[in-house]
Amino acid sequence: MFKKILVANRGEIALRVQRACRELGIKAVMVYSEADREAKYVKLAEEAVCIGPAPSGLSYLNMPAIISAAEVTDAEAIHPGYGFLSENADFAERVEKSGFQFIGPSPESIRIMGDKVSAKQSMIRAGVPCVPGSEGELPDDPAHIRRIAKSVGYPVIIKAAGGGGGRGMRVVHTEAALINAVQMTKAEAGAAFNNPAVYMEKYLQNPRHIEIQILADKHRNAVYLGERDCSMQRRHQKVIEEAPAPGIPRKLIDKIGDRCVAACKKINYRGAGTFEFLYENGEFYFIEMNTRVQVEHPVTEWVTGVDIVKTQIMVAAGEKLPFTQKQIQIRGHSIECRINAEDPYKFVPSPGRITLWHAPGGPGVRVDSHIYHNYFVPPNYDSMIGKIIVHGDTREQAIARMQTALAETVVEGINTNIPLHRELMVDAKFMAGGTNIHYLEEWLSHHKR
Ligand code: ADP
Repeated sequence: MFKKILVANRGEIALRVQRACRELGIKAVMVYSEADREAKYVKLAEEAVCIGPAPSGLSYLNMPAIISAAEVTDAEAIHPGYGFLSENADFAERVEKSGFQFIGPSPESIRIMGDKVSAKQSMIRAGVPCVPGSEGELPDDPAHIRRIAKSVGYPVIIKAAGGGGGRGMRVVHTEAALINAVQMTKAEAGAAFNNPAVYMEKYLQNPRHIEIQILADKHRNAVYLGERDCSMQRRHQKVIEEAPAPGIPRKLIDKIGDRCVAACKKINYRGAGTFEFLYENGEFYFIEMNTRVQVEHPVTEWVTGVDIVKTQIMVAAGEKLPFTQKQIQIRGHSIECRINAEDPYKFVPSPGRITLWHAPGGPGVRVDSHIYHNYFVPPNYDSMIGKIIVHGDTREQAIARMQTALAETVVEGINTNIPLHRELMVDAKFMAGGTNIHYLEEWLSHHKR
């Protein structure tokens, strides 16, 4: 096992990895930008290294600074968290070439999955069902593009091969709008992702977002840890996640889970990963794979009892998965609310000083957050300041516990989306379960205040 790991991230996930290291008896080196000097995990750290000024391009995305920090502190491995450099194949390669273990899959796996066109092609080969669409990147010839759209059937969605974070997508309803939409998406993708390649998928009208968590070791063992339902989204960004997915027969989950495990073995995948699917009329359609730990991993940890972050570290060190598929049982129900520093209905970011913070607690409540009383939320990064996660024997009990937890939570000095979560936890359709990916946006557009 490693003696020392460098945590190349910030915020709640940096604290989460630090906690996993402590439990495993591993020293965690924390890195921070000048804006994060006061972070809780930096103050709690045995060792911490400043890697640059506030803008992430100069700090959390600064590969030489991060690798030098690992060198000067004698770390053996680097945990990238999520976001920032976690899905950057060049970074993983540089980490390994510098003699450190990257806690994640191989650079090749990251590269294949990071390009959504090559990811889909490799999934089709591995027998994973995908959204019908263009066979690969769209050609330049407008007549050819029109023929593809006709055979896929309108509405279609044009997506950037290098896209992420819900950006680089455009829905097209008619042939008249097609070519212009392709050109605009290409131009945006070139500017935003440095890769103008786009592809086409059938636009599914009322799907749910269902994803399968997998873990794989270096000895060709892989398991799936059930599913998560992340359909409560705004602008393709997840707001609430839960496990298991209400109303989907276990038999269907097991079938798609087995496919994901087989695909992992086929592509020689190692570490934690998530296969994301759209689910409509009883069918799963692969959309992309995330090659890292995800924000919503705690709901899976709670219903399976598996510590995903600790297992990531163990398999990176070469250990075998400590459980088999048969030992993975789903127990009860778990829900996560992402807490963002933003106006709850206008979504304008709200950085600043937290003048009062009272965290919820009690049975079945987990809070993953780096904030504290008098903490200053810097304006430079993502607005998520933490997550409230609950567990109950049933979905109803989990919802009741989330309602109680949200009622107890106090954050003053900045705006948060807690009022939105409080309303959603008593919304009849959410409480019934099984809402689709458009539900939250529709709810927001009808919501008068
Ligand atoms: P990103 O990497 O930016 O998160 P994804 O491919 O995972 O992009 O898609 C994000 C979200 O966009 C999905 O959860 C879904 O809400 C919507 N989406 C993507 N592809 C389709 C599609 N073919 N039909 C309908 N909605 C889609």
